[in-house]
Amino acid sequence: MTETPVYGIDLGTTYTCIAHVDPLSGRPMITPNAEGDLTTPSVVLFEDADTRVVGREAKSTAMLDAGRVVEMIKRQIGHGEWRREFFGREYSPEEISSYILRKVVDDAERHDTVRPHKVVITCPAYFGVVQRDATANAGRIAGLDVLEIINEPTAAAISYGMQDRTDQVVLVYDLGGGTFDVTVIKIEVGAITVVATDGAHELGGRNWDERVVQHLAEQWQAAHGSTSDPLDSPETLQDLWQQAEMGKRALSAKSETRMRVVHDNQQLAVSLNREKFDELTRDLLDTTVVLTKRVMDTARELGHPKVDRILLVGGSTRMVQVTERLKEEFDIEVTMVDPDQAVAKGAAIYGQKLAVGDRLREVTAELAQDPARHGTSTREAAEELVASELGLRLDTVRHLDGMVVKNVLSHSFGVRSLTKDDKPVIFNLVRAQETLPVEATKVFGTRKAGMGEVELRIFENTVRDRIVEDFDTAEEVGRAELKLVADLPENSPVEVRFSINGQGRLQITGRDMATGGAEVNAVIETNRALSADELNDAVEHAKSIRIIS
Ligand code: AMP
Repeated sequence: MTETPVYGIDLGTTYTCIAHVDPLSGRPMITPNAEGDLTTPSVVLFEDADTRVVGREAKSTAMLDAGRVVEMIKRQIGHGEWRREFFGREYSPEEISSYILRKVVDDAERHDTVRPHKVVITCPAYFGVVQRDATANAGRIAGLDVLEIINEPTAAAISYGMQDRTDQVVLVYDLGGGTFDVTVIKIEVGAITVVATDGAHELGGRNWDERVVQHLAEQWQAAHGSTSDPLDSPETLQDLWQQAEMGKRALSAKSETRMRVVHDNQQLAVSLNREKFDELTRDLLDTTVVLTKRVMDTARELGHPKVDRILLVGGSTRMVQVTERLKEEFDIEVTMVDPDQAVAKGAAIYGQKLAVGDRLREVTAELAQDPARHGTSTREAAEELVASELGLRLDTVRHLDGMVVKNVLSHSFGVRSLTKDDKPVIFNLVRAQETLPVEATKVFGTRKAGMGEVELRIFENTVRDRIVEDFDTAEEVGRAELKLVADLPENSPVEVRFSINGQGRLQITGRDMATGGAEVNAVIETNRALSADELNDAVEHAKSIRIIS
């Protein structure tokens, strides 16, 4: 019996990619989409009330039909208020993302003849709890069983770690279409540990395109001496974005390229060489270098002074300026690993690891009931059985099962509390870059006598200090209520415990210490992600929606 593999999905800002581990070769493979491409543009066109066009066709139609197209939805994920209306209904980022997932899953079903169901989806390392929840919900709306949401750089490191099994510290420089993520990861035999992570939400290839778009518009205006701005016309603008992206890609292969601008029925051919392109975009690249240095400093503080290798992932690392600049700034070997595919492949390997682990546990339990049936130890017999069931080599089963992936917290979490002079501050119980799972406790005093409950307001922030005074640097992610025995005096000790599991899920426990009262568990209701009702409604609505290419 062979089971449907767990699929890994890199749900990217601009492109999405799906992979699984091929049972015959044991290698991760990308499944091409219906158009034969290995990556699918993360673009959704609302064709009519029940039909969505996703991918290449949607991307090119965007030019004529900008009002019915959604691009870069990943930048909105986890922003609870964001909605877009089409055909009289409002759509959340989760629902729009779910169409992209369905497109790649439908195509994988056609290509691989099995329907992907269990999946691991990746997200940037700096995504907070709300964005991770929202990503998982997008998967649920698409009808998928989301086993885990894992970090993109971790997935890339897993993929790289399968090719090069030496112990090393790598820096994953991931410049995608809309996001930049930079992460220091320790790869050891059997363990992949994230050391430190940083990044910029809104920095990616698209910003490089934007600079070229502006340049093209300026050139057109200068050449025609016109005050009409090509950027004001939605049709011209869409065309400019496409020209710019194509031009940018061409510059990764050759030193000069030509683009064309058509506006107000007047054409202009514009040449762009690498030097000019680098000049137009230098400050963007500078930002990535600043963040790279910062994450290296953090890694150093945390006891990892040396980075052995820089791994490049994300389509935008194909720009020649990236490798050149990194070599110039750092005396470290720079390696490009499957820039568009490494993340999906790593997620697939991780998904297979989960499947192997689950199956091993089941089979071990079954065999343990009947030890007489097998000669070797139960564990070994189970490993052999699972290897043959999943079509894997025995050492691969052992390697996958033994592989430990340790993440660090990308954000600090704290509760709002008052200082002695009644000033509100955030007290961070757990701090960014701490290794997961993590647990921390802090005893607070009640403000008044006879409080029936204490409301804990939980804030997420990127500050590594214990006390945060500036609320602007933090986001409230949820509230939890702890019921107290009503007759407690003022300043009664209440213990608050934060525990965060390996996947970054936060659980809060409170205990009133004065009376030794019972523990109150509070799983936080996160803000902004879909409510249970909204999620159910989205799942129902999705059933009437058809996805086409
Ligand atoms: P990703 O989100 O990792 O798929 O990266 C997509 C981004 O990579 C988009 O901004 C693409 O324009 C960019 N990209 C893809 N191929 C190239 C290339 N050959 N040269 C420069 N940028 C590229």
